[in-house]
Amino acid sequence: MHRYLYIIILSVLSIACKPTPIDQHLEEIPKENLLEALLKGNERFSGDHPLHPDQTLDRLRDLSVGQHPVAAIVSCSDSRVPPELVFDQGLGDLFVIRNAGNIVGDYEIGSLEYAIEHLEVPLVIILGHTKCGAIGAYVDHDHDHSHHYSEYIQKIIDFIDAEEEEKAIPRDAPDFYERAIEANVLHGIHELKLKVPSVNELIASKKLKVIGAIYDVETGKVRLVEDPN
Ligand SMILES: [Zn+2]
Repeated sequence: MHRYLYIIILSVLSIACKPTPIDQHLEEIPKENLLEALLKGNERFSGDHPLHPDQTLDRLRDLSVGQHPVAAIVSCSDSRVPPELVFDQGLGDLFVIRNAGNIVGDYEIGSLEYAIEHLEVPLVIILGHTKCGAIGAYVDHDHDHSHHYSEYIQKIIDFIDAEEEEKAIPRDAPDFYERAIEANVLHGIHELKLKVPSVNELIASKKLKVIGAIYDVETGKVRLVEDPN
């Protein structure tokens, strides 16, 4: 008798402890709730109970007729920063652009423009991260000009530098590295708004949100970055 009771208790517990499955694809969520849905996905990931939604071959087959991603994300190529894992999402959800230092140059702006104008994504996230090697290279270069990078890596460093000069973060600030990571995210947002004027109109008419965020590679958590402009 006791044995049955034990089994019943165990079964009830296992049902109660199971994470609730996602009953909606991301594309079915109202656009004003999308950021919240992504942050909830990040809570699952950083809480170590991801659901890995929509990562099946069936889902891919459904999507083969066309994609409707809900967000365009620019993130770093860093192997610890894959947006689908960080936000616990699946196939067809995110339109992702990655490069070292999550910089927003001409090619990235072209990809973002495609996502905004043609795929009509209502959300753009420029996602920086802690311990970014590209920003680290910039910080090191700033302190030691004798270190030479190739022309192409130097281009990444120069992109990061542009916003730094403008913001004039004191070079000896103890949190210079962290602030450079944040400044680089904001620089990306400013570049997009500057080079694609329709972005400002879409933001004004509430059809588009452009958000900056930083992902912590130790905790797995994403926090939003306020744009003072
Ligand atoms: Zn990085």
